[in-house]
Formats: sequence, structure tokens, C-alpha cells
Amino acid sequence: MAENSMQTREGIRAVLETFRHTPKAHVQSFGCQLNFCDGEKYKGILQDLGYELTETPEEADVILYNACAVRAHAESRVIGRLGALKPIYDKNPRLIVGLCGCMAEEQEVRALLKKSYPFVKLILGAGAMERLPESLLAVYRGEKHRESLEFAGLPDETLPTVRTSSFQASVPVMYGCNNFCTYCIVPYVRGRERSRTPEAVEQEVRGLIEQGYREILLLGQNVNSYGRGLQTEIGFPELLRRLDAIPGDYFIRFMSSHPKDATPELIDTMLHSQHIEHHLHLPVQCGSNRVLKEMNRNYTSEKYLELIDYTRGIAPDFGFSSDIIVGFPTETEADFQDTMRMIEYVRYDNLYTFIYSPRSGTKAAEMPFVSSQEEISDRMRRLLARQREISEAFNRRFIGKTVRFLAEKFDPDTKLLLGKTREGLVLEAPGSEQDVGKLLHVTVTDAKNWALTGEQQPLI
Ligand code: SAH
Ligand code: SF4
Repeated sequence: MAENSMQTREGIRAVLETFRHTPKAHVQSFGCQLNFCDGEKYKGILQDLGYELTETPEEADVILYNACAVRAHAESRVIGRLGALKPIYDKNPRLIVGLCGCMAEEQEVRALLKKSYPFVKLILGAGAMERLPESLLAVYRGEKHRESLEFAGLPDETLPTVRTSSFQASVPVMYGCNNFCTYCIVPYVRGRERSRTPEAVEQEVRGLIEQGYREILLLGQNVNSYGRGLQTEIGFPELLRRLDAIPGDYFIRFMSSHPKDATPELIDTMLHSQHIEHHLHLPVQCGSNRVLKEMNRNYTSEKYLELIDYTRGIAPDFGFSSDIIVGFPTETEADFQDTMRMIEYVRYDNLYTFIYSPRSGTKAAEMPFVSSQEEISDRMRRLLARQREISEAFNRRFIGKTVRFLAEKFDPDTKLLLGKTREGLVLEAPGSEQDVGKLLHVTVTDAKNWALTGEQQPLI
């Protein structure tokens, strides 16, 4: 350990020893999977420094909100929640409240907190995780406001992690984004693309599988550009093949895939694998070529559909899900109809739908709206209604089939297990608490728009 980080740890330890109780820390993450994954590292660092983790903010000595900047609405909710911590701070002025993650990278957010929420003394940008100990110490030593904003490098491979689950684990393969879709704030708050080495990823995944993890979720803003810029360049399909060769019983999932970089090689790799899900999250955002161009997505709807056709030509049941933005500033009803045609053609099994949210500093934030908010809400309503029917019809194709299923939760009232199949579909099946965390064989007996229902098959 570097000399100064040793000194920092000792400095914090000395402060914590003056407490008359066990020092406690509360970390709450909001937003995407990558944020939750970062949150597990913040927890690891705090635990390593001597804090006990707590789910109760009222009893914490450090509270970190690790928040997402992608949409304005979620951001205002976090500001509201930060505001609600003020009475806790008033009772315990030694409490350190911090904001970290993408949201902390925004200049406007930092200015607002400094002015109106001075009890939020710690600001830690996405990718400045390593700076948490020294920032805490600075605040303990009297600094009123400490900002650390760095996102150029990769997080230290040796950072401790407190994993939330004992059978599902997220593993980032790359950070940042180079795409600058015109609506999106991510490249501004997460910096440029950089990939972890395949050796580092493989070592982590192997370790998790050896510990008994059953689902590995590989994360990146655009996993299909994984490997660019590494000393030995390697593509994402090649990384997947290396991981798939690790012995064990587990699923590999990944997100997100930018359609401009998703290839038939990726699909072939998935279909020929032992462990990779037979499902691809391929966010199309919109079905109109004009809007796609204005979004700077770098593909057309025809190009997008080529990959869908290629896949379904080989594997007709292969599932796709997508993100859709409704109400991009220049979106007209005709553009929206193109999106409706897209969902009709692809028959997504699931859609993550978002009303466009202007983010300051992005190109689209300068574009005037051509539709009213009422028209936009009405489009969203129509999209969701049609998608419910499509999901149900698609899901029904599995009735009678036997699938692999990872049981994630058990509800003692209904005695039902809830989890996901290798095809990425939500499934419910009768079971018991002991089944949680296991990969089971289930025969699908029914299907609704949001889930399949199944019966467990005895192990042969
Ligand atoms: N890198 C991923 C997405 C990260 S953000 C990808 O490109 O697929 C997750 C989703 O949030 C995006 O796919 C998009 O649908 C949505 N999103 C991003 N910026 C948005 C904005 N300004 N308003 C509404 N939705 C947005
Ligand atoms: Fe945002 Fe586009 Fe990058 Fe996804 S690919 S993070 S939507 S800029």
C-alpha cells in the first residue's frame, strides 16, 4: 500500500477511535447497474476503513448517495432525499454526507449543493472512488467542502468490494463512452472509453464462479467496443469466448450493446456458448431514421433490423429487449409511428421506455420541441399498451418448453420463486427458500406479459 494511503487510513482510524460507538456507514446507489456496482466498491472501501455498513441512515456516521445523471427527474429526487438528511445532520454534526457518482460530476449540481445544502461536504465524481479515504479525512480535519473529480483512468483493481448478492455479481469490463448521442450526458460524466484487460476480467470472473456465483453480469456503456486501445486489442466476442470456457454452472449476461457495434460474430458466440444468455439488450432508442441521425446513433433502422433478421434466421426464439426514448425534441407523430413499426417487427420481449429528459450541455438540449408534452405522454401510453400485448404473445411461445432458470427471490406468502431464464425472461415457479441462488430446470406452463410461469423439473 502506498505510504500516503497508509497514513490516510491511520488518520481515519485515529478519528474513528474517538467515537463512543461503532462507526457506521450507509451507501445508497441509484440508477444503472454500473452505479450499483460502483456502490459495492464504496461499501468495500468504507468497511475496510473500519465502518460497519448499515441500511439505516439515522444511525450512520457517513452517508453516501451514489447517484445517476441520465434523467432530470431521478436527479431531483436525489436532491430531495439529500435535503431530507438535514435533520439527521442537525442531530449529529459529525455526520459526513456525500454525493458521488455521475451526478456529482455535474457543475450545476455541485453549485446547488454548495449554496443550498452546505451539510453535503463530500463530492466524489464517478471514477474518483480511490479518493474517498483522503476526502473523508480532509472533512474530519475541518474542510467544509471537499470535491474530487477524476474519471480518466480505470479504478484500482485491488479496491475491496462488498457484494450485495451471494450468487449474482456485476463485473465492469469497460468504463466511459465515446459515442456522444446528442441526448445523453454519460460521456460528459463518465469520460472516454477505457477497457480493463482481459486478464483482469477473466481473473475476477473465474474467482466469482469458483466462489459459487451463478450469474455474472458484464457491464459497460457499449460493451461491443470493449478492448479498443488495449495493448493487445481484443474484441468483445473474443472476451466472451474466454469467459465462457471457465468451467462451472452459471449464466453470463451483459449490457449494453450499441447497435452500431453489435455483429453477427457476437450472436454466433452467444448461440454457440455454454453459459451466455440467449437474449440481447440492443437499445434502438427510436425507429425513425431522421431522428436516429439527429440522435447521432450511427445506424439506420434497416441496419439495425439486419442483425435481428440474421439472429432470428438461426434462432427464431432469440429474445431482444430495448431502450426507447419517447419525445426526442424533433420527434413527430410520423417518427413515433416508425418506432411503433419497429416494436411490431422485432417483437421485443421487454422495453425500457423513457420520456426524453433534456440534459444541460448536450446537443439535444438546444433543440426546440416540435410536440407538446401531452402528445408525448400519449405516445408513451400507446407504446406501453402495444408492448404489453407483444410481450405476452412472445412469452407464450415458451409454453411447454423446459428452460434453465436462476431463482433470485422467494416469496413466503405465495411460495413462489422469482428469477430469470437463460432467455432473459422473468419467470415464477413454486419452490422454497432453499432454491434461491440455484439454477433450476423449469417447464413453462403459462405466460403473461411480464413473466412466465413454470413448474420445477426434478434433477435427472
Ligand atoms: N450506454 C447505454 C445506455 C446508457 S443510458 C446505451 O447506449 O445503450 C440508458 C438509457 O437511458 C439509454 O439507452 C436511453 O434510452 C436513456 N437515456 C439516456 N439519456 C436520456 C435522456 N436525456 N432522456 C431520456 N432517456 C435517456
Ligand atoms: Fe449515452 Fe449513447 Fe454512450 Fe449510451 S452510447 S452512454 S446513450 S452516449
